[in-house]
Amino acid sequence: MKEAKEGNITKEMRIVAENEKLEPEFIRRGISKGRIIIPKSNRRELNPPIGIGKGLFVKINANVGSSKKVFDPEEELAKAQIAEKYGADTLMDLSTGIKESDVIQIRRKILENTNIPLGTVPIYQSALRAIETKGAIIHMDEDDLFNVVEEQAKEGVDFFTIHAGVTREIIDYLVDHPRMMGVVSRGGTFLAAWILHHEQENPFNKKYDYLLEMAQEYDFTLSLGDGMRPGGIFDSTDYPQIRELMEISTLVKRAWNNNVQVMVEGPGHIPAHEIEQNIKIQKSLCDEAPFYVLGPLVTDIAPGYDEIVSAIGGTMAGLAGADYLCYVTPSEHLGLPNREEVKRGVIASKIAAHAVNIARYGKRASEWDYKMDIARKNLNWKDMITLAIDPELAEEKHLRSGEKLDEDVCSMCGDFCAIKLLRDALEEKNK
Ligand code: SF4
Repeated sequence: MKEAKEGNITKEMRIVAENEKLEPEFIRRGISKGRIIIPKSNRRELNPPIGIGKGLFVKINANVGSSKKVFDPEEELAKAQIAEKYGADTLMDLSTGIKESDVIQIRRKILENTNIPLGTVPIYQSALRAIETKGAIIHMDEDDLFNVVEEQAKEGVDFFTIHAGVTREIIDYLVDHPRMMGVVSRGGTFLAAWILHHEQENPFNKKYDYLLEMAQEYDFTLSLGDGMRPGGIFDSTDYPQIRELMEISTLVKRAWNNNVQVMVEGPGHIPAHEIEQNIKIQKSLCDEAPFYVLGPLVTDIAPGYDEIVSAIGGTMAGLAGADYLCYVTPSEHLGLPNREEVKRGVIASKIAAHAVNIARYGKRASEWDYKMDIARKNLNWKDMITLAIDPELAEEKHLRSGEKLDEDVCSMCGDFCAIKLLRDALEEKNK
């Protein structure tokens, strides 16, 4: 951000501009105003660096990571690589585990074996450290919080979710005004419990300037977490959610004043008719800082199909101006996703982002669709399968009824194929 404000166009800005089909100056100006970020640590090479924000294609994130019950570093790495293969623009490692060394091991594997930006929620590791060294999460101290951020930053983590907007005032309000789902953010809950126990302000809020100093040193991006995000549609757009967003808006401006790139995380479970107003409130309060939405999930009744629920919400959020969608898998609310569910989550989110990009940018975003339409018009199954977002699935579905790749019709209409009938009629007329 410092380079951008000084008028310099960096190598990363040029690469982002090329991939976005925009001028490098557009990227530089967006970064200088905080409306575009390139989340990339100065300790890590990315292939390619990506941009998120105003005027850019909507990006998607895939979460991976072990839990205390399921710990398998190779499996989490495989999920990260599947997510990258099917089009995730970034990854977040949300590993927890039995021991602190578990999460370190998984993070290092992902950093070494993937090429896209990696984010984490460092308080998860701080919590494990506190359990191991002091017996309980509640005994976590400021050093546990800030030292872990610095240790992960030294390893090359590109962006950090930090719940600096969870303040004592909001937690006190929640005690007197309980909501349906309480606090569903893991990081938000750790901090809420810490604030209640110690009767002190959130250290990430109190010592935010120290965090900004670290961000400058390692060039990581801050993702200001929404600890008060609604965990069910009945809590959406309520006082704690909006009060936290107001606090975050002040933190955004302090980050910009210190040349630190920042994005804002958002809900969560939001009914469809409230999505647009949520995006507009965030964009207005935070002076168009990039908005990273978690879903949103437009209904709570579809466990097992939440990737669809999230794709609906993500499309609506993108159309209203959201910049970055966090995927949701079919096992959301049920368990840790497997490889197939990670793939389904990425593809669902990718479709939502692509649909928004077409609506926003027309030709700049629809070249892929144009090629697919030409292949369909020509009944060219090989090209249709190669161009499909999931070529293996497209090929399996096309061939399962005995079709061959060089046959022109498919089993849907057979000889009544509309495309073939019209093509034959036109050929006959033109003879
Ligand atoms: S047979 Fe029907 S579904 Fe298949 S390509 Fe022709 S028109 Fe499309």
